[in-house]
Amino acid sequence: MFDRKVLEEFEAAAGRAGTTDASLDRLTTLGCGGPAALLLEIDSSEKLAAAMSVAAAHGIDWFVLGYGSNLLVADTGWDGLVIRLSGELKECKAQSGGRLECGAGASLTRAASLAAAAGLSGLEPLAGIPGSVGGAIAMNAGAWGTEIGSLAARVLLCLPGECRALEAGSLSFSYRHCELPKDSVVTRVVLALEPAEPEAVRETMAEYSRRRGDAQPSGERTCGSVFRNPSEGASAGELLDRSGCKGLEHGGASVSQVHANFIVNRGTATAADVIWLMDECRRRVHDSEGIVLEPEVRFLGDIGLAPL
Ligand SMILES: Cc1cc2nc3c(=O)[nH]c(=O)nc-3n(C[C@H](O)[C@H](O)[C@H](O)COP(=O)(O)OP(=O)(O)OC[C@H]3O[C@@H](n4cnc5c(N)ncnc54)[C@H](O)[C@@H]3O)c2cc1C
Repeated sequence: MFDRKVLEEFEAAAGRAGTTDASLDRLTTLGCGGPAALLLEIDSSEKLAAAMSVAAAHGIDWFVLGYGSNLLVADTGWDGLVIRLSGELKECKAQSGGRLECGAGASLTRAASLAAAAGLSGLEPLAGIPGSVGGAIAMNAGAWGTEIGSLAARVLLCLPGECRALEAGSLSFSYRHCELPKDSVVTRVVLALEPAEPEAVRETMAEYSRRRGDAQPSGERTCGSVFRNPSEGASAGELLDRSGCKGLEHGGASVSQVHANFIVNRGTATAADVIWLMDECRRRVHDSEGIVLEPEVRFLGDIGLAPL
């Protein structure tokens, strides 16, 4: 819990009241986990840099939350500051020269729809990923052979007390990873897209959406792929399927029958249920395939997998 003076400093930096003991379950797609000590919504890069300075001055841990679509929060919550981007940091606009500039808090799906309306192609395969543009950069989100890192031209980052624009080429993107400078938050992204007919872009998006609907559970609470694909050979989903993980249940969570790399919250799942299933799935793949799966989902709070 933050003392009154520190809370006031954060609120002055953000220009609005924060929420103490803030539920995080409703802010994640999986829908489980405990509260954060403080949640601050921040609507400009300058305010973010100021709030990060306050955190640095008091040695307070912070975490930037996008749409929580790749996140498992501990049932005991997190005793730090959670930052969410809001206001102008959720807006996107098309620029000349095939560019689309987005606040990092904008939804990737909305960015893709705006790109389509502006006759810009490139984001179609990523349109169904339920994350923010900033979360997509941090995770180098990708689908059907396209990763957002290959579309990014410039990225605005904030650190305690300063913000800087970087050419995206200076960031190292790899499979579901971007090497962002330590303690930085992405606040804006310029994507370089290709001119195309809006209707053709929409049709391609719809086709990817159909493919996604066939391959993944839809309308259920999940956090996307829980494990990373190994660098070669079968995908995590295939390994989990071959190891008999589909349909496993524990408490309120189960391994999807549609895709074995998705864990579903059936309504009452706790983070502990999800971890139990992840441990069990990992053990089965290790025992039957000799492969150690690594988590793709990010953890927040006092939570983690058991050693194999
Ligand atoms: C149904 C479903 C389908 C999915 N399909 C795919 C898919 O096809 N491909 C794919 O790659 N992923 C997929 N995902 C996973 C997820 O949507 C992506 O990883 C997404 O990019 C995460 O974005 P987010 O805003 O939700 O990030 P969060 O889950 O909120 O955070 C993830 C990480 O990003 C960091 N982060 C968030 N915002 C910022 C920021 N502004 N600056 C710096 N760091 C930040 C967080 O601190 C955290 O470490 C899927 C998830 C679901 C639920």
